[in-house]
Formats: sequence, structure tokens, C-alpha cells
Amino acid sequence: MNDEGYRAAWKALDLLEDWLTTGYSRPHPDLVLEKTGSREPAAAGAPAAVPDRAAQLADLTSEVSACVKCGLAANRNTTVPGEGSLDPEVLFIGEGPGAEEDRTGRPFVGAAGKYLDTWLPPIGLVREQCFIANCVKCRPPQNREPHPDEIGACLPYLARQIAILKPRIICCLGRIAAQTVLRTTASLGELRGRIHRLPLELQQPDGEAIPVVVTYHPSAVLRDKATLRKPVWDDLKLLKSLLAK
Ligand code: SF4
Repeated sequence: MNDEGYRAAWKALDLLEDWLTTGYSRPHPDLVLEKTGSREPAAAGAPAAVPDRAAQLADLTSEVSACVKCGLAANRNTTVPGEGSLDPEVLFIGEGPGAEEDRTGRPFVGAAGKYLDTWLPPIGLVREQCFIANCVKCRPPQNREPHPDEIGACLPYLARQIAILKPRIICCLGRIAAQTVLRTTASLGELRGRIHRLPLELQQPDGEAIPVVVTYHPSAVLRDKATLRKPVWDDLKLLKSLLAK
């Protein structure tokens, strides 16, 4: 999408926000499209600054594909390790693969993934600038929540992905992802709306403290847009403010 497309999408979201909050249109400043450092959309091949990330991720993908460390291995069709930029602006983390992801091996390709894609242009991103992963790499049966032991067994893979990719920002999609990444039992309502720092257990010893923001899972928003669209928009604005730094 070009700059005009971003501005049109931004204006539409401003109008929606006005309608949800006040019922009428209010004046808004024009969208300023910041250039976010050197992390442009990925061209073919790995960025020059990260020549070994592709190899490290390939090793991880290979390990995940053979993994039987928890019971989710029994019912999967394929593993879904995650995919995206090797030098991501944002690492989006969801809960676990759904049916479409289990069929294709790719994260967020169903209805929720398509909806997530629409969140990106208004904050100046395209999917190719992001990496998308889940807390568990195998589909829980009937899309149930992954159990704590399953999350615990799979968490080292996510920790390695964070260490390899060194994302500028992490965005947790939904309660399970937020609680897993932030190592807390606090509710989503308590966690969203502010900037967290990646807990020490998930950081590299020499790594920077990666900022973490939390919002609702796109699936939840699709089920209740009237309630959740406004808080998600607030969270995306918070994410955009971090991208602009
Ligand atoms: S969910 Fe994770 S830990 Fe469990 S079998 Fe799949 S890859 Fe292994």
C-alpha cells in the first residue's frame, strides 16, 4: 500500500473511533508516516545485517517439525513454527495454530490472520516487516486453549525465536500470549494499554529489554467488534508510538 492508501485507512479508522466514542466526527491531525529505520519490507533473501538468522531459524523449524515434547504432537497435521521478516519491526505472538494453520503450516492465515493484516497499514506496517509466531507450535484439539504444561514444553522455541530475531517490539495477541510472554497471571484488561519490558527469562543476557504491548486476539475481536474494536485501536496507537521512536 502506498502513502495515500495508509492515509485513507487511517482516516477511516479515525472516523470509526469517533463514531464508537462520541457518535460524531471530530477533527484529527493528518497522519505522519515515519520511516522506521532501516527495517524496510523484506526483499528476496535475508537482510545483510542478519546473515545467519535464516540458518538458525531453519534449524529451529527442523527441530519443531520432529518435536514430540508434549501431547499436542499426537493430533497435529503439521507444525506451525512461525514466519516473517528476519529483521522484524514487530514480533506478533498468538496462542496456537488453528485448523487452517494446522493444514498449511503457516501462522495466522485463516480469518483471524486476514483481519490482523488489516491492522497493520494504519500503523505504517506491512506483514512482510513483521514476524508472526505462536506460544505453541502445534494445534490444540478443537482449538481449545493450550494447557500450561504444553506451553511450558514449547516456550523454549519461542524464547529462541526472540533471541534469533531480536524484534524491535513484541505484540502479544490475546490473554494466553500475554500471560506466557510476560510470565504473569494478570488479566488481559490489566495488561493492555501500557508498555511492558520482556522478562529476564526470555531475554538474551546481553540483549536489550524489548518493549512488549498487549492487545486482544483478532479472533476475539471478530466475535465482538462492537466492544473490542475501540480498545484494540488504542493498543495499535500505542504500538505505533513505539514504532515512531
Ligand atoms: S506444541 Fe511445541 S512442545 Fe508440543 S509437540 Fe508441538 S512443537 Fe513440541
